[in-house]
Amino acid sequence: MTREEIIQKFQNLNIWKSKDQRAVHKPLLVLYAIGKLLRGENRLISYADAEDDLRNLLKEFGPLKPNHRPQYPFWRLRNEKDRIWEIPDAHKIQEYIRKDGTSTGDARIDELRRYGVGGFPEPIAYQLQQQPQIAFEVVQNVLNAHFPFSYHSDILQTVGIVLPILQFQSRIPDFRENVLRAYNYSCAVCGFDVKLRNQPVALEASHIKWHQAGGPDTEVNGLALCSLHHKLFDRGVFTLSVKLEILVSEYAYGSVGFDEWLMKFHNQKINFPQRQAYHPHEDFIHWHLKEVFKWPEREKI
Ligand SMILES: [Zn+2]
Repeated sequence: MTREEIIQKFQNLNIWKSKDQRAVHKPLLVLYAIGKLLRGENRLISYADAEDDLRNLLKEFGPLKPNHRPQYPFWRLRNEKDRIWEIPDAHKIQEYIRKDGTSTGDARIDELRRYGVGGFPEPIAYQLQQQPQIAFEVVQNVLNAHFPFSYHSDILQTVGIVLPILQFQSRIPDFRENVLRAYNYSCAVCGFDVKLRNQPVALEASHIKWHQAGGPDTEVNGLALCSLHHKLFDRGVFTLSVKLEILVSEYAYGSVGFDEWLMKFHNQKINFPQRQAYHPHEDFIHWHLKEVFKWPEREKI
């Protein structure tokens, strides 16, 4: 199998199809499994052993859900037409599904724990292990396709992958410039506006609805945020109400910095952009609230 063929298989991961909903299950499983391969571990992973790790990945980097179900990607990744995942004992599990299975055709967790050993098929695993640069390329592609840049280093750390060089994305300089200008080159939350000579430093243009989810590169889908608030926003520590108030998640807490950098702004309006026409659009705010924010918000103070 050539490098291009492998790269292509992973690019075809069928993920964002359910409209706007973030479905990070499969990408996270792929990254987790590549991490293991790169550490020289067996290509086949026991579901029972990996279950807690996978659930934690979903909790940390997925949207807020009352129950995360790591069994879904582990079972469903087999169905990708590109055959990037196999479960050698799938037939045993399928017998149970036939007998009294769920309507979705999903494996029940008990059988998956018992027989669920899965991984990349031999030829793919072999190539990824023999030629780590292919694995790194797949990893970078999966990250770029499904997560904003502010997630990348945290996810890599969690799955234990060290990329040899940080491949910065060089995209859309206009978006950055337009959004920063709209907000007078200062953070919409805290007002941070340090410059080095004439250049703003640690000030970034963030997408409200992620680029990866089809969010456009326009001012109404952007916020100028300092690096700290950008990260906190992308991770769902705070969001905006449709009235453009900052809402801090009940799940966020801390001592040093928590009041000064977060709670101080809770229920306060953002620093508005210079034109009404640049105000964040409701649709994008709703998306962030639903797909990224770790709701509920804290009580009004
Ligand atoms: Zn800030």
